[in-house]
Amino acid sequence: MATFKAIRIDKADKGTTAALTQFDEAELMDGDVTVRVAWSTLNYKDGLALTGKAPVVRRFPMIAGIDFAGTVEQSSHPAWKSGDQVICTGWGMGETHLGGYAEKARVKGDWLVGLPDGLSAREAMAIGTAGFTAMLSVLALEKQGVTPQSGPVVVTGAAGGVGSVATSVLAKLGYHVIASTGRAAEADYLRHLGAAEVIDRNELSGAAKPLAKERWAGGVDSVGSTTLANVLSMTKYGGAIAACGLAAGMDLPGSVAPFILRGVSLLGIDSVMCPLTARKAAWARLAQDLDRPKLSEITHEIGFEQVMEMAPQILAGRIRGRLVVKIS
Ligand code: NDP
Repeated sequence: MATFKAIRIDKADKGTTAALTQFDEAELMDGDVTVRVAWSTLNYKDGLALTGKAPVVRRFPMIAGIDFAGTVEQSSHPAWKSGDQVICTGWGMGETHLGGYAEKARVKGDWLVGLPDGLSAREAMAIGTAGFTAMLSVLALEKQGVTPQSGPVVVTGAAGGVGSVATSVLAKLGYHVIASTGRAAEADYLRHLGAAEVIDRNELSGAAKPLAKERWAGGVDSVGSTTLANVLSMTKYGGAIAACGLAAGMDLPGSVAPFILRGVSLLGIDSVMCPLTARKAAWARLAQDLDRPKLSEITHEIGFEQVMEMAPQILAGRIRGRLVVKIS
């Protein structure tokens, strides 16, 4: 029986269990491309799945991991052949389809993006789903007409994965970035990534007024809840906020005032079912607009064996930047 190393999640009497173990190759799900996984990553959603804190996993047994980069081993899909370097994020991996914390993955060829020129597989996963989502947010702001000339942009949860990449990319593009963080100790880190100002997240965490003093023309919010409501209330006339996360909660206790009195736009960002054309565009922009030395400062590498112990840490907001996981 052929097996490979994987982090397997099973249903238990109460909740779920997760462990690094051997997985039977015969249990791989349907797909037209089999990939030898080299790198994966630890995202907030992985933390939820591994700890069982939220019902992310909807099929058992599951292999956790919402993304991977690796080399095609076998393919019956016309776009891919053995030896191609590929990236896969979302599409229900680690939720309804066996995921990326595995030496081997079998997926649909239609889900894959080729590794952009000049980006290594490790760099692609240092970016991972979080960084990809940050870029989708930046692209949404651009599409909405938010430019560096429009005024400052705010990034919430700035020291986290989405926040670190968003801060870095926006700064490189010339935006005046206001980074909001709960970790004063990370102020230097955020300035180094290019933040022009660092603010305490407490400024954005209380009950939101319908409208407050206009502070920014745009923003990337990975926090949700009262933070997003405050961010919206402080957005300038005609501005836009890309909402991509829920680190503080799924609720949005705010007012319609910013929309109807200031023409503010709320842009929804989903990386999971994002269409292929938009994926390719975002990865191409990441390869172009994310400063490599900055990426390497954002990134901390961990081994397969450390994923389980780091999962509660990401949920507690204790991870700075991105964790890239060496698989094989
Ligand atoms: P991280 O844990 O790396 O970052 C989240 C950051 O949010 C933390 O570092 C912290 O930043 C801040 N934060 C955490 N808890 C709170 C709180 N209670 N109140 C205010 N701020 C808080 O996670 P990721 O960057 O990987 O993901 C961020 C969010 O984006 C998650 O909710 C995730 O589910 C979502 N996401 C959504 C995607 C999509 O497709 N829409 C894809 C990827 C992620 P600091 O210490 O700087 O304050």
